[in-house]
This record gives sequence, structure tokens and C-alpha cells, in this order.
Amino acid sequence: MTTFDYIVVGAGSGGAVVAGRLSENSSARVLLIEAGGSGRHLNIQIPAAFSKQFKTKHDWEFYTEPEPHLNGRKIYQPRGKYLGGCSGMNAMIYIRGNRADYDGWAKAGAVGWSYDEVLPLFKRSEHNSRGANDFHGSTGPLYIEDPRSPNELSQRLVEAMAATGLPRNDDFNGSDQLGAGLYQLTQHRGQRWTTADGYVKPARKRDNFTVWTDTFVRRLQLDGDRVTGVEVERDGKREVVRADREVILAAGALNTPQLLMLSGIGPADHLREHNIAVVVDNPNVGSHLMDHPMYLVNYETTAKGTLAGAENPVQLLNYVLRRRGLLTSNIGEAGAFFHTRAGDDAPYMQFIAAPGYFWEHGFGKHAKPAFAIGCSMVGAQSTGQVRLRSADPKDKAAVTFNYFAESDDMEAMVTGIERAREVAAAGPLAEFLGDEIHPGPKVSIRAGIEEEVRRNVEHTYHPSCTARIGTDSDGVVDPELRVHGVRGLRVADASVFPTIPHGNTHAPTVMVGEKAAAMIAGSS
Ligand SMILES: Cc1cc2nc3c(=O)[nH]c(=O)nc-3n(C[C@H](O)[C@H](O)[C@H](O)COP(=O)(O)OP(=O)(O)OC[C@H]3O[C@@H](n4cnc5c(N)ncnc54)[C@H](O)[C@@H]3O)c2cc1C
Repeated sequence: MTTFDYIVVGAGSGGAVVAGRLSENSSARVLLIEAGGSGRHLNIQIPAAFSKQFKTKHDWEFYTEPEPHLNGRKIYQPRGKYLGGCSGMNAMIYIRGNRADYDGWAKAGAVGWSYDEVLPLFKRSEHNSRGANDFHGSTGPLYIEDPRSPNELSQRLVEAMAATGLPRNDDFNGSDQLGAGLYQLTQHRGQRWTTADGYVKPARKRDNFTVWTDTFVRRLQLDGDRVTGVEVERDGKREVVRADREVILAAGALNTPQLLMLSGIGPADHLREHNIAVVVDNPNVGSHLMDHPMYLVNYETTAKGTLAGAENPVQLLNYVLRRRGLLTSNIGEAGAFFHTRAGDDAPYMQFIAAPGYFWEHGFGKHAKPAFAIGCSMVGAQSTGQVRLRSADPKDKAAVTFNYFAESDDMEAMVTGIERAREVAAAGPLAEFLGDEIHPGPKVSIRAGIEEEVRRNVEHTYHPSCTARIGTDSDGVVDPELRVHGVRGLRVADASVFPTIPHGNTHAPTVMVGEKAAAMIAGSS
């Protein structure tokens, strides 16, 4: 039987980091397994092309069960399937969340995860083009850069946000998250920079590091309560690979709980329904699913240089020759964090604004140039779940986000949309402002906006918390990310967040990967 010391399942924002870091110890034999391919494709490398990956072979292409608070809509949820995972598909916005997120985790029992304790890990991962300071690192594997060709309209959007009373903020990951500014991005010289670029590529030069792409993990192998390896499907054949020390699951917040349940770790009644022998009865596996709903307010504009022109030959040439121009855009270039009500530690709302039309995940088209102000509800409280559809590993899990189960979430979203309208109407955008496209002028009163949200809201692609840190009665992993009830198994992806951070989730997941690797190295 093929044997390694560590087997890491999934090469996304968490898994690529853990595997790359573990391989720095030359005496550890590390295997990284990825269901998808190499991740070499122009739609992955060119920032503005990220949504062209949707519903292609690069995408797991999830659809939820009918969402109970969204008129029964089945919501599309793309997930990257190749080396780099969602770090190759995301919108590249580099945000860590709020100090209160991590302090809240620690206060709830996640020992070692307070803001002051995780800050060094964020810095360790980071190669920020602005250089190092108290909040940033400049020698890590993950390039973080300012937009290479910031769009003039995005700068106007920031000015308009400021004109509505938001402070200017040129570093959302610094001392204060609140305010408006342009985002820093996981890019290097105008090109996307994934965790595969930063952590897997250098590791491949090491003899002790092995990567298997196009290899599907079907379930864990257990001997009693000890995880001994994984069962994989590779080149059409099934085989078992052994881990002498540990298996680290990093298949993402939708696939990690599925793999746990397929292996007998999960809610006992549910496992029995699918004739799966119960190893650990833990109802928290797949529960507490969180995400950030997002509604996109869109306006026609007379501004020149919107993303409508991104694919013209001049822009293509500018990108190919100089890595500059509209194709370097991450779409959501400008943004803000702000409170929608008094008394919250962290902001309920994030703006993600684009100098172009954005609707239906980029599939929507509009005849005239436009801009979009996405209202991403980073304070969302509603939770859902991931459950098995069947005992067949190839059957995608049944996912329900339960978006807007909590009424506070709808209040905040409607307030966010009203604020977006104020931004659009503010002086800096006035000369370019055309008709409102979404929600549209007919949707005015709060009840009307609420209906529109239920009809058309999407999300910011941030599923999290399905194998969260907690005790064995309220979580799935302990603060060292070891799965309760078994030995030799950890989780290191967005599943382990006790609650979803107030912001985009890639940087926090990379931090989880860094921390997992450091904890494993410390205990081996
Ligand atoms: C369209 C989009 C836009 C986003 N925009 C942003 C943004 O701008 N900024 C930001 O911070 N975050 C953003 N995110 C979210 C962020 O990218 C994710 O939260 C983060 O990448 C999740 O990391 P992960 O390691 O948990 O999972 P993933 O990165 O999804 O990694 C899981 C990996 O496991 C593999 N895998 C799964 N099942 C198996 C199996 N059975 N066998 C083998 N391999 C398997 C998958 O193929 C994948 O490579 C976005 C996400 C998307 C999809």
C-alpha cells in the first residue's frame, strides 16, 4: 500500500497551504490530493475572467435545495475544482475580517485564535507590495497587491461612498476595518495569485512532496477510532492510501462535511438513513453552515472605461504585453464596511462595487454600460446545513443555507440597499449616473425592497462553519483542529470557522492553513 506521513485532501485556500508548509520538514512525506486538474487556464489567470469558469469543468457547480426564505429558489454556488481551489476562482479581494471575529472565537472557547494570536499567521502568509508594518508581512508566499490599473469609475465610487459619510480607509486589514476604499488583491503584477502559486509550486521542488491531481477522495479509512488513510479513485481505479501520522481534510465547507459523514462521522440518525455505520455520533457535522448573502444594485452610466469594454482587442493586447488594463480588474474593485444599526462590534454590511454590470453571477447581460454596488451582508446570522443526498460519494451533498432565516438579516440588507442608492446619488457619481436597473425605480418602499431581495439576492460565495471549532457537544474540531471522537484526523479549511468572519473568507482560510501546519509541526 502506498504510504505517506500526512495526506491532505483538497488543494484550495486551506489545503494547499497546509501541505506546502508541512513539506518544509524534509523528513515528512506529504501527499496532497486534488479532485480537479492543474488549474492552468487563462480564465483562472486573467483576473477579470473569473466568472467565465462558472458552470465549466473548473466548477463543482452546487445548487442548493429550495431555499425556504427565498421563494423556494435553488441557489447556484460555484466552487473551484483544481489546484488552488476557490483561490483560483474567487474575486481576489484580500480581507481578513474584524478583530472582533477572532476575539469572539477565542472568547467562545477557541483557545489560541484571538486576533493578537492569529495576526502573526496572516503576516507569515503575506507578501504585501506595500511592505511590512505592524499589520502586514512582506516575505510570505501570498502576493497581495494594490489594483494594477484601478478604474477611474471605481475611484469615483469610493469618493461617493465617502460623500455619504463613510471615512476613507486605505487599509481594511489595518487598525480599523470601517470606511471606504479600494481593495488590495491576491494578485502578482496584474495576474491572479493562488495558493497553488504560492505554496504548491515551491513545494513541488521537494522530494518529500507529492501531488495527485484528478484524484477523487471517496471516504476516510478507519481502524476503530483511528484514521489510517483515504480511499481514492484515480485513473478509474479505486485504491487505499495510508497516512502514518495524520489525514487533514481541506475539501471546503461543502465537501469536507460530506466526506466526514460518508466515513461515519456525523449525525447518527442521518447516517443510518443512508446505511452508513456510525463511528462518531456528532450532529454538528454539516450544521451551522454560514455565508454572506449579496444583492447587487446596478445603474446605467455614461462613464467611459467600464468593464463592458474589457474584451476588446486593445485591452487584450494591453493585458498580454503589459499585464495592465481592464482585464486586470477583479470586478469588485471598490468597497466599504459600515454599520447598519447601533451596538454591533463589527459592521453588518460590506459594499463590493464594480465598474461594470454584474448580475446573475456574471451571466446577466445589459445593453448599456453600467456599474454595480454589491451589498454583501457580512454580519449575517442565519445558518443552514449540509447533509448527504445519498451514500454515493459522487452525489453532491444536499445544501440549504437558510439565507434570511433571521429577520435581522433582512433589516440589514434593506438598509444596505438604501445606502447603496445614496452612494449612487452622491455628487462624485452624479455626472455619470443613468437609470437604476436593479432593483429599479418601481421598487421603493422597504417592503418592496424585501420582496426584491427574496426574488433576486445571491451571495458572496463564502460557505463556512460546517465543521466548526467547539467542544464535542457544539463543534466538530477542537482548537487544534482535531476531529472529536477519532484520532489522526484534522480539518483545515473554511469549515472550521466557529462563526463566519465579517469579510471575504480566502485570507482567513489561508490563516487556518498556516495555523494548522504550525500546530501539526509542533505536535509531531
Ligand atoms: C466566485 C467566488 C468568488 C469569491 N471571492 C472572494 C474574494 O474576492 N475574496 C475572498 O477572500 N474570498 C472569496 N471567495 C471565497 C474564498 O475563495 C473561499 O472561502 C476559500 O477559497 C475557501 O477555501 P477552502 O480551502 O475552504 O475551500 P476550497 O478553496 O474550495 O478548496 C477545496 C478543495 O478541495 C477539493 N476537493 C473537494 N472535494 C474533494 C474530494 N472529494 N477529493 C479531492 N479533492 C476534493 C476541491 O476541488 C478544492 O480544490 C470567493 C469564492 C468564489 C467561488
